[in-house]
Amino acid sequence: MENLEEKSEETVRSNMPVKMKRDKFRNARGGKAVMIDIYCSKCNTKVLWYQKDGTGSLKRCYLNRIFAPPELERLQRDPSIQEPKDLPNLVCPSCQNVLGTPMRYSDGRLAYRLRQGSFYKKRSKDIGY
Ligand SMILES: [Zn+2]
Repeated sequence: MENLEEKSEETVRSNMPVKMKRDKFRNARGGKAVMIDIYCSKCNTKVLWYQKDGTGSLKRCYLNRIFAPPELERLQRDPSIQEPKDLPNLVCPSCQNVLGTPMRYSDGRLAYRLRQGSFYKKRSKDIGY
């Protein structure tokens, strides 16, 4: 049984209560997770709201950890997306800077391989979309 402290950590403070994901992928990274905002380093536009599992640097964005914006969040449920080639690049909606390219990670998940230097991240407190 989870204690109350654990529960409050799980509900991200925001206008919309959002339940962070807890699954085998998160457990494989030690169970810890944080919500982060990912910004375009060229024009400072917020590009993604993302659950990062585990500690360490951010190298990839897995589709099933994207919470917003909706047009990117829905990719993980799109039946026409099966292979990396089915995905568009991850681009900044304002300046078209390419932040990531599609890939499949060794655990089977589709992801974006992030281009270092094209983005920066901040610990997230709300959705902001
Ligand atoms: Zn940009």
